[in-house]
Amino acid sequence: MSTTATQPIPVQTNERRVAAEPRALNARALLNHCSIRPTRQRLSLASLLFSKGNRHVTAEALLAEARAAHVQASYATIYNVLKCFADAGLVRCLAVEGHPMIFDTNIGPHHHFFFEDSAEITDLAFGDVTITGLPQPPEGYEIAKVDVVVRLRPKKKGAQPANG
Ligand SMILES: [Zn+2]
Repeated sequence: MSTTATQPIPVQTNERRVAAEPRALNARALLNHCSIRPTRQRLSLASLLFSKGNRHVTAEALLAEARAAHVQASYATIYNVLKCFADAGLVRCLAVEGHPMIFDTNIGPHHHFFFEDSAEITDLAFGDVTITGLPQPPEGYEIAKVDVVVRLRPKKKGAQPANG
């Protein structure tokens, strides 16, 4: 993927308007929109996050990248910036049991493989998963979305398939 992405971010109708801005990236405007004072450090964090194409990061991973790039920022600052971006619809939160919160810069509809041995997460195209038989939501509710995380583990040589 090109690093000079200037295409508009796809916006879901229930997400806030800031996402319609080009992703290559007016970091200052994003932070202002989130009522986060756009310090140099926070601007650098936004650039770090969005400058590498679609990806999945934890706050811990972004903290490590920030340190490598000599950007001074605390874990709390990084987590708050990521949560703010999620609230603004710029990244998507992905909760995987037993794993820190993952922030996904791909906000289009898609699902995930999760590799239990490496904690790596990769995208599955939306059409690669067929979901049928969803229950009727309770009165007054509609299904907002369905996130599928397919957990993977290495096959054990010579072992019988696990029962679950
Ligand atoms: Zn993803």
